[in-house]
Amino acid sequence: MNISFVSYEVDPFAKVGGLADVAGTLPKYIKKYTDQLNIIMPFHKVAEKNIKSKGYLLEKVAENLYPFSHSFKYSFSVFKSFLPDTDIPVYLIKNEELFSTDDVYEYPHKEHQTTYFSDAVISFIKNYLPETNLLHLNDWQTALIPVYLKTNYRDDDVLSKIATVFTIHNLGYQGIFPPDILSIAGLPGYLYNIDALEFFGQINFLKGGILFSDIINTVSKTYAEEIQTEEYGYKLDGVLKVRNNDLYGIINGVDYEKINPETDKNIPYNFSKENLENKYKNKLSLQKELGLPENKNIPVISFIGRIVEQKGIDLIADILDYLTLLDVQVIILGTGEERFEKQLKEFQNKYNNRLSINIRFDIKLAQLIYAGSDMFLMPSRYEPCGLGQMYSMRYGTIPIVRYTGGLADTVKEFNCEKNIGNGFGFYNYHSSDLLVAILKALNIYYRKPECWKNVVLNAMNSNFSWDKSAEEYIHLYKRALAKKV
Ligand code: ADP
Repeated sequence: MNISFVSYEVDPFAKVGGLADVAGTLPKYIKKYTDQLNIIMPFHKVAEKNIKSKGYLLEKVAENLYPFSHSFKYSFSVFKSFLPDTDIPVYLIKNEELFSTDDVYEYPHKEHQTTYFSDAVISFIKNYLPETNLLHLNDWQTALIPVYLKTNYRDDDVLSKIATVFTIHNLGYQGIFPPDILSIAGLPGYLYNIDALEFFGQINFLKGGILFSDIINTVSKTYAEEIQTEEYGYKLDGVLKVRNNDLYGIINGVDYEKINPETDKNIPYNFSKENLENKYKNKLSLQKELGLPENKNIPVISFIGRIVEQKGIDLIADILDYLTLLDVQVIILGTGEERFEKQLKEFQNKYNNRLSINIRFDIKLAQLIYAGSDMFLMPSRYEPCGLGQMYSMRYGTIPIVRYTGGLADTVKEFNCEKNIGNGFGFYNYHSSDLLVAILKALNIYYRKPECWKNVVLNAMNSNFSWDKSAEEYIHLYKRALAKKV
């Protein structure tokens, strides 16, 4: 197998969300099964800054390359670095005109930039990596690559042999643009067709990825089922059903070398199952840092994530008045939609002693919250996989989730008598159901400390390592390659 893994964000070069964690970790685990493995990403400005500040190796490996079909005739160059502490090459596609802003996604003309990037990846592979036989693509920004391969380049001696696996990390983001993008991208006009990329009078890139890739997967088994229903399908459920035979779900893992309470440099007190006392010292540090009363016994309930509807922030806002009446402290860290940010800030003024609202992106504080909290809220409307619940469990912080997508696959309801389960949850998207789940957890926390200790240990013992998921990806790669012979 000679694989190139294509992603718009790769940790530690450019990180916005969970995709970066996956792209920066999964390749390390699949590497041992492959002959050659490369990562390809855009050379975002932020990647340039990170490479310089962290002193990573960087060399130019190609220049004056052109995409084959795209109507923008700017040339691009390619730089090479390595995934830190590995020999996995990371190729960064550089074009000043198109990747010129600081933000990974907020480019003024995303459609131009993503189509150009897709065609540029293909041109780079044909010229420099012609042994590639499989492309692993991620999310809508890369979804046109299989479309190019199966239309414009289907007779090319190198490109026609490449199999594709397309991973949907979040169906909520699809890349929908006016039809003239096809001529800008240099793709055939017949794709403007309900059986191809047309989508309510527009062009939908994700739909292209779903229809033209050899194998499709998403990041949990439950989410793979859910997206085939009207409720979760974002109007692509019908298309996903058409590809049902080639659609899989593989849960993301956690990089336990990085997410490890025993070695985490972001927290003042490292700890393990054998030394939970230190977890509670972190709790005091967290309370101090955020100006909350320092009290080891009061339960700390936290949320870290994007402050958007997907994450169930409206349910949390609904119950904050009630929650703050209880003997608890609530911590929120995140950024997102202004309307929710504003609403949360208003609560802050009302409940200073019980509530800490932090509207920013802060990795260090995030780790202290994972370590120093008792409970972690993820009442998501939908959740393809979710990393927060797995991170929190690693730090002995008990997830309280809505059982949907990856949350349903990783969190199992705790039963005190049988001592099984690693968290608490609810099914219906209602704030009262969230509240009941929190009260269930609080009841055990206050009244059955021995049981609480057990759920903490069960959470810390839960294993979400990448090993098993990497093996499942290798099976998908084999299935995709089998389609090419
Ligand atoms: P998504 O990818 O949908 O945003 P995930 O749960 O899969 O959600 O991953 C989110 C990641 O980003 C987690 O590692 C989480 O800790 C981190 N994160 C989210 N918001 C913040 C923030 N404001 N500060 C620090 N880390 C954050």
